[in-house]
Amino acid sequence: MPAMTPVLVVGGGLAGAAAAIDLAGAGGAPLLIEREAGEHDKICGEFLSGEAVAALAGLGIDARALGAVPITRVTLHAGCRQASALLPFPALSLSRRVLDAAMLEQAARVGVEVERGVSVRGIAGGIAQTTAGDISADTLLLASGKHDVRGAPRPDGPDEIGFKMYFRAPALSARLAGTVAVTFFDGGYAGLQPVEGGRLNLCLLVDGAHYRDLGSWPALLARLCREPGLAPLADAQPLLPRPLAISRVPYGHLARASDDGVWRLGDQAAVIPSFCGDGMAIALESGRLAAQMLGQGARAPDYQRVLLARTRRPVTLAMAALAVARHPAGRLAAIAGLSAIPGGLALLARLTRVADPHALAVA
Ligand SMILES: Cc1cc2nc3c(=O)[nH]c(=O)nc-3n(C[C@H](O)[C@H](O)[C@H](O)COP(=O)(O)OP(=O)(O)OC[C@H]3O[C@@H](n4cnc5c(N)ncnc54)[C@H](O)[C@@H]3O)c2cc1C
Repeated sequence: MPAMTPVLVVGGGLAGAAAAIDLAGAGGAPLLIEREAGEHDKICGEFLSGEAVAALAGLGIDARALGAVPITRVTLHAGCRQASALLPFPALSLSRRVLDAAMLEQAARVGVEVERGVSVRGIAGGIAQTTAGDISADTLLLASGKHDVRGAPRPDGPDEIGFKMYFRAPALSARLAGTVAVTFFDGGYAGLQPVEGGRLNLCLLVDGAHYRDLGSWPALLARLCREPGLAPLADAQPLLPRPLAISRVPYGHLARASDDGVWRLGDQAAVIPSFCGDGMAIALESGRLAAQMLGQGARAPDYQRVLLARTRRPVTLAMAALAVARHPAGRLAAIAGLSAIPGGLALLARLTRVADPHALAVA
């Protein structure tokens, strides 16, 4: 006999934890399963947009109190060209190690049953097969993020590899204070920004064939340091023994309503190109929306349709911007255009946001 639970949340990242916190706050008793046994680093640029910060506050998480540093400016680099603008919203930068742990602590505090170190191997017909036995759930929320679960596949992403490394570089950190710097290069793009603890987070996406030509992480780093926006990293001290890596992220994926009864949250529902720095906001808001709609008696397909309507525009726009940035002439022209139009870059940053955080109420 499988164990039984009214609501099972698979994955304790931002989407799963957000849903579980709100469900518990509304009197539910969700069970959340997270495969990592303890705090861990995660591949992410760690840029928290204004909506993400607001959603966190609504969940009882004060990112500033956790040590988040303010980000007020974005700069775009392509070769020697550069565009810079103040962000049209207050943003923060906080490591996922700290943020995700705080979310699960908050979940446990408000009454969520959190089981760490348990992995879901597959789902079928409302039953999750886990490393600790089968669990039967009336409602199953799939929030396993970048990782697919057997029984609920997503389309495969392109042949691209994501990397993340922390660095210590005091002079560069001082120069970059308050800034997220995005560099587009042949074969990919990279984001560099300060994060708590006086560190810099370098997070990037590179075409798989380009990386294989280079052959190794040190060779890729040396290649990146030829870009004017990243050159100072050549003298920086790496802080992880090796970079975190991920491949085939399905950028542009938007989950449609399906009849399998599964509620898809976060990266399982919508994957926005990383350079927009809005994936965490989508994750948080999808979790909060799922909890709200579940409380109102909605069904999974209704929720999926509402979420799709909110995520389609920013994801589609971000994919279009990415297509332009992938072409050398396109990105140079785009940066020239953005620096020539007052407010152009700020407008682009605003248009690629998922939604007004206060517009979550379901009509
Ligand atoms: C290179 C890169 C850079 C990015 N930079 C940014 C950025 O700067 N700003 C931003 O807002 N977004 C960024 N994003 C996007 C952001 O990281 C994601 O959108 C966000 O983490 C999605 O949250 P989630 O909760 O859906 O998934 P995740 O954060 O991936 O959480 C999923 C959780 O589920 C757990 N899990 C997975 N499989 C199982 C299983 N089988 N059983 C149990 N548990 C499981 C995992 O351990 C994990 O904790 C970036 C993404 C990439 C790839």
